[in-house]
Amino acid sequence: MNIIGHWINDEVIIKENSRTQAVYHPSTGEIGAQVALADANTTQDAIAAAQEAFATWKTITPMRRARILFKFKELLEQNIDTLAELIGKEHGKILHDAKGEIQRGIEVVEYACGAPELLKGEFTKNVGSEIDSWSDFAPLGVVAGITPFNFPTMVPLWMIPMAIVCGNTFVLKPSEKDPSAALFIAKLLHQAGLPKGVLNVVNGDKEAVDTLLSDSRVQAVSFVGSTPIAEHIYRTASAHGKRCQALGGAKNHAIVMPDADLDNVINSLLGAAFGSSGERCMALSVAVTVGQEMGDKLINGLKKAMQTLKVGAYHDNDNHFGALISQAHKQNVQAHIDSAERQGANIVVDGRNPHVAGYENGFYVGATLIDNVTPDMDSYRAEIFGPVLQVIRVDTIAEALILINQHEYGNGTCIYTQDGGTARYFCDNVQAGMVGVNVPLPVPVAYHSFGGWKRSLFGDLHIYGPDGIRFYTKRKTITQRWIANKESAIFSMPTL
Ligand code: NAD
Repeated sequence: MNIIGHWINDEVIIKENSRTQAVYHPSTGEIGAQVALADANTTQDAIAAAQEAFATWKTITPMRRARILFKFKELLEQNIDTLAELIGKEHGKILHDAKGEIQRGIEVVEYACGAPELLKGEFTKNVGSEIDSWSDFAPLGVVAGITPFNFPTMVPLWMIPMAIVCGNTFVLKPSEKDPSAALFIAKLLHQAGLPKGVLNVVNGDKEAVDTLLSDSRVQAVSFVGSTPIAEHIYRTASAHGKRCQALGGAKNHAIVMPDADLDNVINSLLGAAFGSSGERCMALSVAVTVGQEMGDKLINGLKKAMQTLKVGAYHDNDNHFGALISQAHKQNVQAHIDSAERQGANIVVDGRNPHVAGYENGFYVGATLIDNVTPDMDSYRAEIFGPVLQVIRVDTIAEALILINQHEYGNGTCIYTQDGGTARYFCDNVQAGMVGVNVPLPVPVAYHSFGGWKRSLFGDLHIYGPDGIRFYTKRKTITQRWIANKESAIFSMPTL
């Protein structure tokens, strides 16, 4: 069977007797390949390759680095079908959705192409008499990225272009569940002219990650994944003196006000709750309806609209969403639906164990709608990460805000209303990092930065955009005087 290896110094590395793990095709339930799981030595080889490459790469001008990314963008566009196919096969998402994820990744590459402007620094002439001061932004060295299964291209592209264009070298540890897209990206960057060792990919699990977290050559770690692992990564990386940003899980609420445009709410909730099988950290998984009447109207409207939804194999673009990542995750999602039912919620549309003709062994769960959910239910507190929309009914926006603000996660949220004052009140008082007003998935564009609050992000800086530049560089401030007039000794604190 095909073994998926690592990418170190521009070569595919497969070591004999390496541990391996099955990579599934979720649409069919079959095993497609085995992925090699790097041990500490292999991971150290990748770090060494990155360390060696850094000595030269940091001296390459930002414009030249950006030119490689321009070429890389072209290659991503030319190869979008191949890349989408790799994603669809190993992740299960439908090709149209896979292409959307690639496009969002390309947008970060485009932003990173602006490096000469972004790294220009800050300059002030005459901070004191005949004294000038400037800050420049130096690369950190070897930096690592650890990424989740749900966006096998986009999330690595949140990190790699930003890190390398700033002059760092990179070791990526992608998800072992769908590793092929990351390797394909590495080969495209090589084709674009990236020098060897600047980007290395090690496949693996905890052993590879723990090596990255403890090796003193790694200066910074970007992580995206579930909250318990994000917390572990942040604590361990920080304890080893590394800079770290660790993005975690989510439970994103949409408040539906009594004046909301119902058709618009229904259409956008369908995509935001069930797109990519709900396996998005920005998926809207809870609708909070304000007022009994809106609650009833929304449930009836969604119930009807959901009849048209099609779950199925990744390569049929008529399908709205595909399989979940694994059989274990399918069981986990269904267990959450069981638990909501047991604890008194009303399963309005039941997607458990759907029949997908021709793909009976795929890991499918159909779109599920649950009404009368209450905050004490386990299914409400957990991140389900499946095609499940839960509805909570409240009487006022104040109650809705309390729900969101008391939840452990604070990634994304949105409000549907036609009232500007209500929208403003919501934006001012909601505790979440990414907020939408009549926008269900308020994912910041590449020239802003992405990140949540509370236990959805450990660290200070958000990912990509302006925060990405700051995360992957360290500031040096130089204050300079060329003396025209000699000055006498000063013993009090200099003031300028
Ligand atoms: P995960 O936490 O299981 O895995 C993420 C990465 O961590 C993988 O590379 C994995 O190999 C590694 N890992 C897993 N267990 C580890 C351990 N014990 N020690 C060290 N490394 C370990 O997450 P996942 O299931 O791949 O992805 C889904 C999760 O990611 C969801 O919770 C989702 O909300 C979250 N996510 C968050 C964002 C965001 O921007 N906040 C974006 C995408 C996904």
